[in-house]
Amino acid sequence: MEQARYKYIYGPVASWRFGKSLGIDPISRPEKTCTFDCVYCQAGKTRVFPKAREIFIPTEDLLEEVQSLPPMDLDTITFAGNGEPTLAKNLGEMIEGIKSFRNEKITVITNASLINQKDVQEDLLLADLVVAKLDAFSEASLNDVNQAMPNVLMHHIIQGLKDFRRIYRGRLALQIMFIDANKKYAAQIADIVKEIRPDEIEINTPLRACAVKPLPERDILEITACFTKIGVESFRIRHVYEAPKKTSSPICPQSTERRRGKEGV
Ligand code: SF4
Repeated sequence: MEQARYKYIYGPVASWRFGKSLGIDPISRPEKTCTFDCVYCQAGKTRVFPKAREIFIPTEDLLEEVQSLPPMDLDTITFAGNGEPTLAKNLGEMIEGIKSFRNEKITVITNASLINQKDVQEDLLLADLVVAKLDAFSEASLNDVNQAMPNVLMHHIIQGLKDFRRIYRGRLALQIMFIDANKKYAAQIADIVKEIRPDEIEINTPLRACAVKPLPERDILEITACFTKIGVESFRIRHVYEAPKKTSSPICPQSTERRRGKEGV
């Protein structure tokens, strides 16, 4: 098989949420490295559950790769990849480094499992858009859908999101993946969303191949209505069935293919 030209970056890919997005994988390990093992994860089962944040790739190696890119028009540069990007201890350093020579907005897609940690919040403050996962509302529902590591607790995630919202001046989106297992909790999740007060809510269902079926459009419309009922006008609510995609051609198909199983960019 042809060797991937890029080790840490992939895409650009067309995203219904971000437009034309260049992906950065700050972990870049062949096996998914995550604090969750979501039942709908398109990258398969999680086999590597790290105990703490660590440096997976040196910041200067990533920056060198981004600097070597050919000229291209992008809507955003997005940290996601094959696992949970906030596990990278040098995430903040990477964001600052890229911002020093690129003008695009920086997005981080996180599962929010570590967002109650001060060091993680400090790194995320550097991003222009943070997209945080919120598929559950209780410890039991977190276990049903996200199968989190034992030390990751739903009430810590909720508190972390509220605390982060208070200090973050960028755009905060909550991304909620609905499947059969959590569609009955839409009203409870909506109540928590109201307390967090994000700028945007993204209602999703896994349309790419994975172990569970996506919900049909009529279910997603009913769920969206639950969030509309919260009655906070400043929220922008988008759902996966409504947005047209932009097209894009990856600069390195091999590096992109490896990461595109995930629900992110
Ligand atoms: S969907 Fe995202 S958060 Fe969930 S297991 Fe896969 S990579 Fe981790």
